[in-house]
Amino acid sequence: MKSSSRVASLSTSVTLKLNEKAVALAEEGNKVYNLTAGQLPYKPDTQLVDEIKSQVAPLKSYQYSPVRGYNNLREKIKTHVQNTRKISFDNSNCEFDSIISNGGKHSFYMLMGAILDPEDEVILLSPYWLSYPQMIKLWGGKPVTVNSYAKNEFVPSIEDIKNAITDKTKAIVINSPNNPCGIHYSPDWMKQLAQVLTNTNCWIISDEIYFHLRYREKIPTYFYQYESKLLERTFILDGISKSLSCTGLRIGYCIGPKEIINGMSKLQAQTSSGANSLIQRALTKYDWKNIDEFLKPIMQYISTNAEVLETKLEERNMGEVNYNCDSAFYFLIDLALTPYFKKNNLHKNDDHAPKIADEILEQTGVAVVPTGDFGYPNGIRLSLVSQEDNFSEAIDRLLDFLS
Ligand code: PLP
Repeated sequence: MKSSSRVASLSTSVTLKLNEKAVALAEEGNKVYNLTAGQLPYKPDTQLVDEIKSQVAPLKSYQYSPVRGYNNLREKIKTHVQNTRKISFDNSNCEFDSIISNGGKHSFYMLMGAILDPEDEVILLSPYWLSYPQMIKLWGGKPVTVNSYAKNEFVPSIEDIKNAITDKTKAIVINSPNNPCGIHYSPDWMKQLAQVLTNTNCWIISDEIYFHLRYREKIPTYFYQYESKLLERTFILDGISKSLSCTGLRIGYCIGPKEIINGMSKLQAQTSSGANSLIQRALTKYDWKNIDEFLKPIMQYISTNAEVLETKLEERNMGEVNYNCDSAFYFLIDLALTPYFKKNNLHKNDDHAPKIADEILEQTGVAVVPTGDFGYPNGIRLSLVSQEDNFSEAIDRLLDFLS
């Protein structure tokens, strides 16, 4: 018996294979530097931990929550999003609603289920988070990619986006700050994007899961802040995985036009039911204004690692690879710009990144993520979250290999 064709068409994770190899190498006694992490290596805000403890006793913490999440938490989230993004959901003819799910990934998956019919196109800006195309395809949709490149600091051209939008476009996904390149788009870019989107009628998905994670003063801005009418077609996606450092607690949310949130709620009711009651109850008591304060020392530390990386790139005359990363906690190295690529006479027609990542791990002990599945062949993603000395050593080994 074989698995379904839908499941068979899902790509298997290169990262998992690399992780397995990294673990095996470490078990054999080799020093391994793991730069693959997609999460912060810190416990959540102590205030949240205390609220979780205080919710352990009540019976309600162990019973089903409402499908869309507790009303008071959804209100709190709405206020939080309005205050931090400086917008209002109440100044519009459109009725908005929200849903709390088992992580941002789950929110995105249900959103795709609620909007897509077979063959509908969804525009992704590459490099993109690797799960988007997989989830789009599971619902029968077609991902359409608009590329960006290291030489443009990974900012896609507004003209290319405009040209990609057709009658078949059901939605466009904007992820700022971005995984895997650790940048957020400038206010000017967002303003231009707003103008283009105003002349379309597709849904707009704004994945803002890394909104709070920025380390160079500039705060991410969004298209709907320049054209508030666009909110009526926008879904803001966020969660606590990154901003409160609790990927394992599985809470994400989506705010958007009510009709589609109703569809997501129908799906959630029939597939997973409401998200974790205990954590929702703790989040209802938590003071969401603390998030930036909680992240401050962590962001300082990521900023130091980013500076270490930039300095070492410049020292090795690899400035071409460098760009102004400023948010989330990733950096993308375009391998085609490295001396290694040129020395080995490699060509961009093929994706050499999985093989190179494998060699890097074997020869230097540094584990990195090849970015082919992120829509960026011949790239590797580094996570900037590891301990400072370890990170510095890892970067030396990695750049010595690539230069
Ligand atoms: N969006 C992006 C861009 C991500 O990188 C991730 C996780 O890595 C998510 C959404 C989903 O996060 P979670 O499901 O943990 O809330």
